[in-house]
This record gives sequence, C-alpha cells and structure tokens, in this order.
Amino acid sequence: MDLFAQKTWENYDAAGLSRERLETIEQLIPSGVQTVLDAGCGNGAITNTLAQRYQVTGLDFSPAALEHVQTAKILASVTSIPCADHSFDLVMCNEVLEHLTDSELIQAIAELNRCAKTYLLLSVPNSEQLASGLVRCANCGYVFHAYGHLQSFDLARLDALTNLRRMDFRVLGPRQRSFYPALLRFRQHQLGQWFKPDFALSCPHCGGSEFLAKKSILTKTVNACGRLGRPSRPYWLMALYAVSESRKAAK
Ligand SMILES: [Zn+2]
Repeated sequence: MDLFAQKTWENYDAAGLSRERLETIEQLIPSGVQTVLDAGCGNGAITNTLAQRYQVTGLDFSPAALEHVQTAKILASVTSIPCADHSFDLVMCNEVLEHLTDSELIQAIAELNRCAKTYLLLSVPNSEQLASGLVRCANCGYVFHAYGHLQSFDLARLDALTNLRRMDFRVLGPRQRSFYPALLRFRQHQLGQWFKPDFALSCPHCGGSEFLAKKSILTKTVNACGRLGRPSRPYWLMALYAVSESRKAAK
C-alpha cells in the first residue's frame, strides 16, 4: 500500500472519470441514508461532493490525501477502523479493496461490515486482468502492478467475501477487453513489452523509474491479435449490500 501513501493527490482523477462513478454512487445510495463513511476516501473527490447531501466522514491512511478532504475525517486504515459498531447508515469503500493483500482484504471487509448500520457499498475494478497491468523495472527486473493492484473481483467474489444479501449492482466506465493470457505472457517475457505507465512511477525494489516496454513488429502483431474476439466489459463494478437485514437473518 506504500504506493498510495507516497502518491501526490492534487491531480488524482483530474480527467474527470469520477463524475460517472459519483452519479452511479448517488443512484445506488438508498433513501433514508443520512450518515456515510467513505472508507479509503483518497483526496475526497467523491467524499466532498456527497457531503452536499449526506453527513459524510472520510477515512484514509494518507495524511497527504486527507488534506484535500473537506468533511469530518479520520486518519486510519480500512483494516482497522476506529469507530463504534454500526456507526454509519452506509459504509462505502471505492477502489480500495483491489490494493489489499489477502489477509488485509478479510480484515477490511469485516471492519466495513462492523461499522455499517444498514448498507455496505463496494466499488472495484470489474474482473480486472491483473497481469496486463504489470510493469517490469528496467534496472532490477522487479515485476509489479503499475497501480498497486493485488486483487481482482467479479460480482460472485464480492458476494462471497461479504456474505451479505446484494440489493443492487452496476457496471460502468470505459469498456475493457482482456488479453489472451498466453499471448500476454509471450509479449511480456519473450518480447519484453510490459505495461507502460504514463505517470511517474518508481520501482519499490530499487527506486528506478525506467520500465521495460520494447516495441517491435512482433509486439504490434501480438497487440493487434491479443484481444480479438475477447469479451469486453465496463471498467468498474459497484455493488450494494444489506447489512442490518443480513445481520438479523444470521441471529
Ligand atoms: Zn527496480
């Protein structure tokens, strides 16, 4: 999670892709909700806008990110939330879970669930092909995901993780096509073309800032064929769960 602790947050999502996400979040929040915890709120792009309609608290483990949050805020990790049980009508967690290790993920889901009184709203990249986001350091050879993603989710995995009744869901954003896995591995390992970050990135192993992204006739051919006939899907997945109901049913 170091990547996000270091990141500068001023320009995060400056392209405005957050508007569609924000509109969908507003559609999914049920009527009657007054208090919202935005767990892993980053620079508050969503938090600050939602605060016009709801009593929102932002939570993030990055002090630099929280500087931009204009609502009530808490400096903490989603894996250990310093709030009482059932404190918020709705707890949401957007584009955070994919950055967690397996054990952090289990802790985070338990914490989000514990702090929610009625609803849990989760948003993640939709069935992301993690291998296609891998970069390889040109200096030391270390391979890692450019955005620090460690997890990939589809709806079934979110349902299983939360073990709650799903009330609604949406897929949204630009459509993505996954690569044929074998062709992708060939392009990366044999041809030396990995994901090319178009933003400042440093290798967590050696601090290098050059990444292997060779171009050739062969990589062009592989890229032209690699996604042919593959299904395309919108980039984000959001799901709304009933917490209180599921809690009553479990008793
Ligand atoms: Zn390196």
